[in-house]
Amino acid sequence: MAFKQIETQELPDIQSVGTVYEHVETGAKVLYLANDDSNKAFTIGFKTPPYNDNGIAHIIEHSVLNGSEKYPSKEPFVELVKGSLNTFVNAMTFSDKTIYPVASTNKKDFMHLMSVYLDAVFKPNFYSNAQILAQEGWHHHLESAEDDLIYKGVVYNEMKGATASPERQVQQHLTHQLYPNSIYRHESGGNPKAIPSLTQEEFVAFHQTYYHPSNSLTVLYGDIDKKETFAALEDYFSGAGKHSEKVDLSFEPAVPDDAVFEDTYSITAGDNPEGKRLFGFRVACI
Ligand SMILES: [Zn+2]
Repeated sequence: MAFKQIETQELPDIQSVGTVYEHVETGAKVLYLANDDSNKAFTIGFKTPPYNDNGIAHIIEHSVLNGSEKYPSKEPFVELVKGSLNTFVNAMTFSDKTIYPVASTNKKDFMHLMSVYLDAVFKPNFYSNAQILAQEGWHHHLESAEDDLIYKGVVYNEMKGATASPERQVQQHLTHQLYPNSIYRHESGGNPKAIPSLTQEEFVAFHQTYYHPSNSLTVLYGDIDKKETFAALEDYFSGAGKHSEKVDLSFEPAVPDDAVFEDTYSITAGDNPEGKRLFGFRVACI
């Protein structure tokens, strides 16, 4: 048996039986929530701890969806959504993990979506095609010879928008101050100031380290064909070996000091700054 059963439990609240399996060779964990819901779901997630604000985890999330060994189309994700009966397809980067969830009520469609995602996360084309980082992360852009050289990129532009909001800045500063000695002090989405420091080598190394079955958790849900679904997982897990690198997601409590932190944010030119103070409180820790 490629997978061994670790634990099983009745979960009456969600009318399911939950079973945790471990892939013997790699240690990959699989949680199977068995029930008769025809809406089948699959998610694979990896611990992806950021080491600075360059947005590497977020850019990899975008980049794995830009073609893979079995599905070399430039935008399999877009094609996927068009022709599929899916009830949910997405990918999300959190401060410590990246997840790839899909759901469908059609069995064939479900198996297909899962296959596209497994191939995307384990066999992405960006290793050999540096254009993908340039497009999804950052590249220099020059519209015409008289213009200034500027940065562009899907995530670069997305985060320029996202981090422009003062609320986001407050949230970022708070996390930074409260969890100073942990990965949670970083902007996992990427700070536009730091994104252009990212190189193709860092990109590949991060993927090799964290997109490994040993560092993954798969969640399966609903009325699925168990044998076929586990065989599809085994196709990608088998032969990967055990990755011993442990990911440290611990954090220490905030420094017990009375701390004041100030920063500024941009307003539109000509706007009156009066009354635009966004946030002002003191956090006193004892
Ligand atoms: Zn994004």
